[in-house]
Amino acid sequence: MEIGIVGGGASGLFAALFLSKNRPDWKISVFDKEERIGRKLFATGNGHCNILAKELDGEKYSDPAFASSLFKNFPFGKLKEALEENGLFLSERKEGIYPISYSASVFTNTLIETLRKRRVAIKPATRIEDYEASGNGVRICFSDGSSRSLDRVVIAVGGRSSPRLGSDGSFARVMEKHGYVLFDPVPGLTPITVSEGGLGQLKGIRHEALLSINSPACSFLESGEVLFKNDGLSGIVVFNLSSFLSWHDLWGKAFLSLDLFPNFNLGWLEAAVQRAETETGQGISSFLERPLADYIGNVAKRSGKSEAFVAKHLIFNPKKPYGWDDSQVTHGGISLDDIDKNFNSKKEPGVSIIGEALNLDGPCGGYNLSFCLASALALSKAARQ
Ligand SMILES: Cc1cc2nc3c(=O)[nH]c(=O)nc-3n(C[C@H](O)[C@H](O)[C@H](O)COP(=O)(O)OP(=O)(O)OC[C@H]3O[C@@H](n4cnc5c(N)ncnc54)[C@H](O)[C@@H]3O)c2cc1C
Repeated sequence: MEIGIVGGGASGLFAALFLSKNRPDWKISVFDKEERIGRKLFATGNGHCNILAKELDGEKYSDPAFASSLFKNFPFGKLKEALEENGLFLSERKEGIYPISYSASVFTNTLIETLRKRRVAIKPATRIEDYEASGNGVRICFSDGSSRSLDRVVIAVGGRSSPRLGSDGSFARVMEKHGYVLFDPVPGLTPITVSEGGLGQLKGIRHEALLSINSPACSFLESGEVLFKNDGLSGIVVFNLSSFLSWHDLWGKAFLSLDLFPNFNLGWLEAAVQRAETETGQGISSFLERPLADYIGNVAKRSGKSEAFVAKHLIFNPKKPYGWDDSQVTHGGISLDDIDKNFNSKKEPGVSIIGEALNLDGPCGGYNLSFCLASALALSKAARQ
């Protein structure tokens, strides 16, 4: 059996890893259009690679029903075990689950070397333009006009996020031509722009906050560090919010509330601001960086509310996500209805689709690499039968 994997990102490399273990008799090739295989994986988790989420709760993904059923079969323990069986060990840290080396480059290089040791053919700088699937196998077509016949092909081409790291979304057109349903891609896990002006003075300020969105159909409540930008907000909690807004089509339709003092109730904070004013003459400026205190003071004046109230209910109207260059994951892609539970295509024999190319995305914290791992493992388990 000869199998070709189109895309040498996280999901393509994981598929090669598990398949080469389960089916040492198969001839496996990984093709990537980039000179450097696994380019995005090297950059994950700020260079540390947050490889897995411990609480693999399907509800945290864009399609909770699909994710819940996948992670029921492939929970955290199974994914960890699958990596460790292949000599790739993990360690649990306060921030999440990482390779034992705490280094994305050590992890990715080890993964690639393991594949080489198992004689997986790794072909960088090799762009696949198209393929033809028939009952007798799959012919893949290279950009230089040549082609090659294989028994099976795995499409692991990723989405559109961070195109400098390889994924430009161009293969979506090919999949559409082959009859797959594609959901329009939207940049996920990004900073957001907001409709309110006058944020320039806040640029660069970081503050812990509780973020909430209440819409009739759904709610978001998460805390973390928010970074103010001149046109919006950033930080991990804001990245998660950006995906949530896209999943629920809430851009421009919902208000975001920041509680800058979630550990103190309003009554206490109002009294404390008053006391600070009496004793120090600084009021809320003694609790916050000056530009943020001034901003809150201005909003308070305009709205007739107390500064303490505004600091606990700082309202913004999210306008749109930042663009692809600032996005960590793609919301949208190939319909999950076009694959079966083993990630084999329902439309074409010999074709499987895994990873971010599919219409499933999760929040920060290892959820997206967990999906790459689970889809690659599901595919390879089925190949063993
Ligand atoms: C900066 C950054 C940090 C991140 N950190 C984390 C993290 O810590 N934890 C986490 O869970 N997630 C993280 N993510 C998200 C995660 O990295 C992705 O979801 C994951 O890498 C997707 O893997 P993939 O293999 O499906 O797609 P990709 O990694 O995008 O790989 C697809 C590959 O296919 C290749 N390709 C595309 N078209 C063709 C073609 N026609 N022919 C040949 N090759 C082709 C591309 O060159 C690319 O290498 C991060 C993302 C970014 C951008």
